[in-house]
Order: sequence, then C-alpha cells, then structure tokens
Amino acid sequence: MFVLLIDMEVVTLNNTSKIINQAYNESRKSLLENEAKTICAEYGIPVTKFELSKTCQETIIAAQQIGFPIVLKIVSPDIIHKSDSGGVKLNLRSTSEVEKAFKEIMKNVKKYDKSARIIGVLVQEMAKPAIEVIVGAIKDPQFGQTLMFGLGGIFVEILKDVTFRVAPIMKEDAAEMISEVKAYPLLKGYRNTPPADINSLTKLLINTSRLIIENPEIKELDLNPVIVYEKGLKVVDARIILE
Ligand code: ADP
Ligand code: MG
Repeated sequence: MFVLLIDMEVVTLNNTSKIINQAYNESRKSLLENEAKTICAEYGIPVTKFELSKTCQETIIAAQQIGFPIVLKIVSPDIIHKSDSGGVKLNLRSTSEVEKAFKEIMKNVKKYDKSARIIGVLVQEMAKPAIEVIVGAIKDPQFGQTLMFGLGGIFVEILKDVTFRVAPIMKEDAAEMISEVKAYPLLKGYRNTPPADINSLTKLLINTSRLIIENPEIKELDLNPVIVYEKGLKVVDARIILE
C-alpha cells in the first residue's frame, strides 16, 4: 500500500492505481504484459507465474526459479504484438535453450523495430495446453464498459462466435454469456476432451467486470488466450489499453 496525502485527506492507492498512474506519467497508454498481469492478479484472475528480467543471466536465474519448461517474451512499450516481432519463445526446456532464445529475441526485436525501447524479457511458466477462450472489454461510446466472451482461435476470428454484456455483470449474466456461445458444447466436454471448469470461467468474467468498473481509465482489455482446465484456468496473455 502506498499512501498519498492530499489536502489532509488520505488516499490509498493499490497496485492497480499505481501501475495506471505510472503509465500516464510516462505517457504510455498501453500497459506492459507484466503490468496487466499484476492488475489481473490483484482482481483474483489467475495468470501464469512470471518474472521480469533484464539480462541473460537474470533470465536464466528466473527460469530456474519458475521451473522448466518456460516461455520468454519481449517487454517493450513499443511492441504490442510480441509474436509478430519474433519476441516470443515457447517451451524452453534448459538453461542453454533459454540463453539461445534470449539472444534470438533481442536480435529479432531489434531487426523488427530498431528504435524499440527494450525493458527486458518476461520469463513465465509454460501453461499446459487445454481449451482456449478469450475475454475482452471495450469502452463503448454509447453503453460504457462492455465485456466480451468467446472461444479462442477460429471461433472468434472466423466464426465471430462471441457474446457481449454491458458491465457490471452478476453471476447469472456470466453464466448466460458462457452458455450462449455456439461453441458451448465444447466447454462441456467433447469426445476425448474433458469438460472445462465453468465455475472458474464464471468467476473470471465477474472479476473482469469488477476490474473494468473500478478502473474507468481502462479503454480496452484483452485476455487472449485464457487456457481453461478441468480444474482452474490461466491467463496466458493480457493486454490493457488506457484512455
Ligand atoms: P502476442 O499476442 O503479443 O503475440 P502472446 O503472449 O499471446 O503474444 O503469445 C503468443 C502465443 O504464444 C499465445 O497465443 C499462446 O498460444 C502462446 N503462449 C504465450 N505465453 C504462453 C505461456 N505462458 N504458456 C503457454 N503458451 C503461451
Ligand atoms: Mg496474445
């Protein structure tokens, strides 16, 4: 907790407000992945374990602490689509693979945008594969903060099988959002695919609703993908854009 004294009135700022204020102070509208994930975690949204590192040596130590296999991702205020820049390396299984991937990321990103400011890399646990969903939020000029839900990949990109609700939402609304997408039967389990944890998914939507309602500076939020297991779920990538 961080305390500011303004006109004798005590205002306490949580991590979320601190991160948002810092971004504004640095004239940044797009939060870094580690910042977006810290905010998510503060709202009870499970994210992949992560650590920010600056050097190759720090990256190796962080990888050993988190445990293999791990993922490395570029952290730069100038790079929004990390994969497009060659800034994402998945499933790294040893110290030597981490060292090689770190160097490749730096080389790729510099080639992609030579003026990009590089803060470091985000070392994170490699989430096991399962069914993928996306949760989004946009500030609609007419309706205000609006939530979106759908299954990942072709379901959202090609079939546009998504659903919307104006925030804040209640548990019943969240349950409805989940069950009304056409791909819902996939979440309930299909052939060899186990059912996804609908209860955790419901909580995820409610917590995301609370996050955007309590932080009206958020213009866009994108949790994509979220991997949903039989028990629990994990946000693998989080993007937040401020007004
Ligand atoms: P961006 O969307 O900026 O290109 P992402 O962080 O979404 O970057 O990474 C690209 C893809 O890599 C994701 O869509 C996901 O499939 C995979 N991925 C990223 N992070 C992880 C992780 N921690 N565990 C497993 N897969 C991951
Ligand atoms: Mg992504």
